[in-house]
Amino acid sequence: MRILIKEIILNGKKSDLLIEDNLISKIGKNLNLKAEEKIEGKGKKAVIPGLINCHTHSPMILLRGIGDDLSLKDWLEKVIWPREEKLTPDEIYWGTKLALLEMIKNGTTTFCEMYFYPEAEIEAIKEMGLRAVVGLVIVDLSLLGCTKENAQKIYQKLKNKLPPTIKLSLAPHAIYTVSKENLIWAKNFAKKEKLILQMHLSETKEEVKYCLKKYKTRPVEFLEKIGFLGKNCLFDHSIWLTEKEIKILEKNRCSLVYNPSSNMKLASGVFPWEKIKGRKINVCLGTDGPASNNSLDLFSEMKIAALLQKINSMNPKVISAKDVFSMATRNGAKALKIEAGEIKVGKLADLVLVDLEKIEMFPNENLISNLVYAGGSKAVSDVICNGKILMREGKIEGEEKIKTKAKRFLNYGFN
Ligand SMILES: [Zn+2]
Repeated sequence: MRILIKEIILNGKKSDLLIEDNLISKIGKNLNLKAEEKIEGKGKKAVIPGLINCHTHSPMILLRGIGDDLSLKDWLEKVIWPREEKLTPDEIYWGTKLALLEMIKNGTTTFCEMYFYPEAEIEAIKEMGLRAVVGLVIVDLSLLGCTKENAQKIYQKLKNKLPPTIKLSLAPHAIYTVSKENLIWAKNFAKKEKLILQMHLSETKEEVKYCLKKYKTRPVEFLEKIGFLGKNCLFDHSIWLTEKEIKILEKNRCSLVYNPSSNMKLASGVFPWEKIKGRKINVCLGTDGPASNNSLDLFSEMKIAALLQKINSMNPKVISAKDVFSMATRNGAKALKIEAGEIKVGKLADLVLVDLEKIEMFPNENLISNLVYAGGSKAVSDVICNGKILMREGKIEGEEKIKTKAKRFLNYGFN
């Protein structure tokens, strides 16, 4: 399958771009090649890499708007967990589809997922055509089958049956929900199978207190002691870190996921960007689940990510639009070990076209600035993932059916 995109703005210049199978195969002027699909940019659309959301719990879209404005503890214990207990694979399937619809509309082509019933999620992801790293969740409460035995079973069953767009990872939920023994098991299993290890880390002060009390050491030091840390680690939130902990994370080349909306909404704290900037720590961006954000829009997340750091440090120069754009593209690709996040020949064809005629894109003096600060998601017109068109001129196949089906579950079990 070949897709030819004509007269598209790439890095400020008009170009043509050819996609062959799932890769970008040619970039140049006046490419007159035969292709099954042709998209006319007419110099009025720009192409950017598809955005990468490194931390979310997609099906929580079914719980959006439930239990807002509470502390993380109350929100989890009184609102979310009692409802999650009742979720079924069918609900997870339609919830994932609905979330993916929102992601595509907002120019996301890849995401890193952590939730229950991964098999139901994978079915939905396959059908929607996005790229994903799906976490097999481990928690000690054995909530909805999240045991290490089950994670291992699902892994063995699926490992050779997945399309190249979907990878499995291990997701021990957090230090306060997974025992030391199970964390060590997860680390060893991930090493043996070469898997990404994703985990919530030092999201709240309470979590650090819990670790100090139980293990007499801070979270990152504890993880180092049990040999958990490595290049395959992707830590969500990572707010309450000391200088010593940051050095340990750097030494082990870990990736961190900054989730500014969720951190602000739950008043968890501020990601320590100022201390991390310039170090050998790969910082990515995530929305967290759509019940604690409450959106899956990475463009607005980029804006919030930049603004929060500026006001927190009282320094407008501390972070730039380019910095946050890299977090949501190149850095995400590095963390998830995929050849995307950049537009170059040989890279995966995960692309987003933005309509430069949208008012938010005027005047087009600085595209990245407009996308980050002026509302990039409103300009997303076409989305391509793995060489397949997922959205054309704002239209996604099957959108109405997904909305109708998911409506049955929305505001699930409230009152
Ligand atoms: Zn999370």
